[in-house]
Amino acid sequence: MIGTTPKASESPEQPLKKIILQHGIIYGPMPSRRLGRSLGINLLPTKYKLCSFNCLYCQYGWTQKATFTPGERLKDLPSVEAVAAALETALAEFSRDHRTIDAISICGNGEPTLYPALAEVILNVMQIRDRYQPHARVVILSNSSTVGDPAVRAALELLDLKIMKFDAGSEEMFRQLNHPAAPVYMGEIIAGLKQLKNTFLQSCFVQGRVTNADPDSVATWIDKIREIHPLGVQLYTLDREPADKRIEKVSLTTLRWIAYAARWRGGLPAEVF
Ligand code: SF4
Repeated sequence: MIGTTPKASESPEQPLKKIILQHGIIYGPMPSRRLGRSLGINLLPTKYKLCSFNCLYCQYGWTQKATFTPGERLKDLPSVEAVAAALETALAEFSRDHRTIDAISICGNGEPTLYPALAEVILNVMQIRDRYQPHARVVILSNSSTVGDPAVRAALELLDLKIMKFDAGSEEMFRQLNHPAAPVYMGEIIAGLKQLKNTFLQSCFVQGRVTNADPDSVATWIDKIREIHPLGVQLYTLDREPADKRIEKVSLTTLRWIAYAARWRGGLPAEVF
């Protein structure tokens, strides 16, 4: 998942920046419009992206092989103990320096809910947060691919906030834009998201070879977000170089129009980032 939501720009001609993979377990803190000063946790490999999607707009480039079950790649994931130790070291240093953070975000080089011991890691993170930075919210940025699994939902409910990807209103658009791994279907994602509490949806709108920002696509997307009924919807577009160079960002005017439509027709708080 993307770590921080880029800020929409009025100028579609601005060159898009490149981004590189996170090199370790802890990164940042980075300023985030939604979360304040946010410290990132990467539960994923550091040499490649591990994800159940292969989004055309991904800032980390193409997913080598989209997977729902990491299998043989488990050896490349940090241990539960290593994650706890890295976070404790970082937060202890902040405390020594009297520095505070507003959030701890679990995201990193791909899809964090693919991590097999997710609940265990989250419990550790919450405990360490309570000791060093009790005011910081613990948040996950997920692509929603695993939300149909009750065990993943139970782990996610331990968090203060969930920000879940939802870009498309139809199975066809979902497949074209997000290229999910084989066993992932939109119906299951919607059913899972409907059961998740305290959740924001995050939706990326793009145009070019594939567009989800035309009136028909937006109308079907609004039907689905109304059904899911999250706390709100966060809209954004490209800010970094996409995996597919034929994908372009949409204008700020388009994002504002979609947000207006989501509020008016979907009855949901919708904000452009
Ligand atoms: S969900 Fe999409 S954007 Fe996020 S890391 Fe995976 S491929 Fe990239």
